[in-house]
Amino acid sequence: WQMATSRMEDGSHLVRLTDRSAAHASEQMRVDFVANASHELRTPLATVLGFLETLRDDDQAAGDPATRGRFVDLMYAEARRIHRLVDDLISLSRIEAERFSPPRESVPLLPLVEEVRVGAGQLLEARGGRIEVVADAAQPVALGDRTQLLQLLQNLIVNAIKYGRAGETVTVRFEDAGAEMLRVTVIDRGEGIEPDHIPRLTERFYRVDPGRSRSMGGTGLGLAIVKHIVGRHRGQLDIRSTPGEGTQVSVLLPRAAGPGPMSSKSHVNV
Ligand code: ADP
Repeated sequence: WQMATSRMEDGSHLVRLTDRSAAHASEQMRVDFVANASHELRTPLATVLGFLETLRDDDQAAGDPATRGRFVDLMYAEARRIHRLVDDLISLSRIEAERFSPPRESVPLLPLVEEVRVGAGQLLEARGGRIEVVADAAQPVALGDRTQLLQLLQNLIVNAIKYGRAGETVTVRFEDAGAEMLRVTVIDRGEGIEPDHIPRLTERFYRVDPGRSRSMGGTGLGLAIVKHIVGRHRGQLDIRSTPGEGTQVSVLLPRAAGPGPMSSKSHVNV
């Protein structure tokens, strides 16, 4: 990955990450990754085991419905965290294994945003937010892997909801970028990211505020997964942010050959 950082006229910082080679991650990175992943799994697992031991050994705790109920809820939340982590780890290794075979399905993107919106319904409600879609073409269609593009949109949109300001709108913009590419930009009005952090956000398990990420259910793998999906699609990932104002993450993807750009602008609020 090649990285270029530049300061934009409006004071925001743009960091562009481009996959220049298929070079293997260094051995040190692999060792760190295994250590981090084990630690991330060990913590919730230790919590679950602790509660189970109490329920097994402490008749008073086990006999009290309120205590038992509270323990079950806590164990459920920790087990969910383990599940999310394992799912993300599996996704990462799958995407990496497939990195030499660019996917070639025609994938209409608006239905994917709708899927994300439905899946994120609870989170959206909790944060009082909404998703707005702005598209150049009536139906932007990428050339890629549907499941992975859904995951890419999901990770970016969910981050924008989580780290955006409560009650704010998240914008998902689709634009033509030349004859063969299209650009997807997810924009939030949130706390933004200090420039020093931006180059490291796509590292596995890197979080600006670990407590915040964990309390929001984050695994710390979302942007690493996005980077790998973009790499497999031979695309480009840009992260641009202004602290205190918000973040724009934009992804350049191959466009499916079709009727071509349409002049009618559509503006859909979902
Ligand atoms: P996580 O599961 O922690 O959200 P990600 O890999 O998706 O993991 O993101 C890594 C970190 O980048 C997050 O913990 C957060 O600190 C920061 N981040 C990601 N998206 C945004 C955003 N839209 N606004 C502010 N910070 C963000």
